[in-house]
Amino acid sequence: MRCTQCEGTDLEPGFIEDNGEGSQGYGRWIQGALERGPFGGARRLGKRRWIIDAFRCTRCSHLELSVRPKD
Ligand SMILES: [Zn+2]
Repeated sequence: MRCTQCEGTDLEPGFIEDNGEGSQGYGRWIQGALERGPFGGARRLGKRRWIIDAFRCTRCSHLELSVRPKD
């Protein structure tokens, strides 16, 4: 893996935290543009969730993001 900003090759693994109420502690990516419900929250019922892997470049701190399927 290579940083797309500085071409650095030293990327350390990590993830995006989500500490909202009822959260399992990590952020997830959901397919499709954000739609919001009547109370302003994201509509996500029935949508597939993907765990986000975030690799940080140790040279420039750019994050390389990718996802893996997880329901
Ligand atoms: Zn970099």
